[in-house]
Amino acid sequence: MHNIQAKIEAGETISRDEAFSLHESADLATLQQLATTVKTRFHPHDQATYLVMAIINYTNICVANCDFCAFFRFPHQAGTYLLTTAEVLERVEHFRRLGATLIAFNGGFNPQLRIDHYARLFEKLHETYQQLTFFEMTVAEFMFACKISKTSYAAGARRLRNAGTGWITGGGAEVLTDSFRQRHSRGKYAVSDYYDAQQAILAAGIGSTATMVIGFDETLDERLAHLEQLRAFQSANANALTSFLCWTYKPEHNQLGGKEISAAAYWRWLAVCRIFLDNFVHIRTSVLTQNDAALRGLDCGADDFDVPLEDEVTRSAGATIAADYRTTLDAARRLGYQPCLRSPWHRHESISIAR
Ligand code: SF4
Repeated sequence: MHNIQAKIEAGETISRDEAFSLHESADLATLQQLATTVKTRFHPHDQATYLVMAIINYTNICVANCDFCAFFRFPHQAGTYLLTTAEVLERVEHFRRLGATLIAFNGGFNPQLRIDHYARLFEKLHETYQQLTFFEMTVAEFMFACKISKTSYAAGARRLRNAGTGWITGGGAEVLTDSFRQRHSRGKYAVSDYYDAQQAILAAGIGSTATMVIGFDETLDERLAHLEQLRAFQSANANALTSFLCWTYKPEHNQLGGKEISAAAYWRWLAVCRIFLDNFVHIRTSVLTQNDAALRGLDCGADDFDVPLEDEVTRSAGATIAADYRTTLDAARRLGYQPCLRSPWHRHESISIAR
């Protein structure tokens, strides 16, 4: 442990085995201190920026059948929906009036929706709301839309870029190992395919991010395999992914069930992520799935968080969203942080990270 601490304090990158030992052996205070050491290479130790955002779930029709999902319906099941462009615009306007500056979209693998459908929708959004930032899709939805449209990832990304798409975020990643995907999400994608799609997105000039979800039945080895491949991808792409965000699994109303992990387990993992992912500038903590407990993630290396106004996907599985987001900001203040409202980030072309 002493050697691992010395490496981190000297600004060296730790290995997967060292991250394993750290997670298993270090107490929370040590993890916090080491994660803060890495955080301060990028930000002041007390940095806590945030933005107000909403996720619009434009369709719940999906054919992927992930066992951890409480949101989707198969195409011919009762209770399916697909929002029209006018309905999407109405929701954007609603959240804009509530103060959102970032609107994200997340839906299922809906076989009716081709790349051209998304391109027309995104064109309309950008034409109507030039002052808002959109996270137009996730990598997972992009992959399915390309497949169903019989379009390569490169061509699909160019088509969306030409329609004004600024972001295809790394959502839908959960745990990026093929063993996890085989157990829970066979119909979604293979891991190598996911990274091929994300590479095409970056190559087209569209911004992207990295995400993860923990608390299913994944092993520590699977979690670390996710981080290791992600760190290598980030290095191979000039550190272009803008941020890393880790959510926690919500176990209600789905096939998988189970128990939610504790907030303390989340904080420990977040600290390991901050230390291990030393080629990421921003590590974000998840108010959406951890509520005010997420703000303790700021002590564990995170520098930023969203205050969400809506997300039906996580709410279907048991997440709760504060009626008044100012209570979240008050909770951060009680921990000694001065939450600072930020503008949405621009995509990273390439980041050189000083050690
Ligand atoms: S997690 Fe996404 S891809 Fe999987 S079933 Fe739910 S909506 Fe479909």
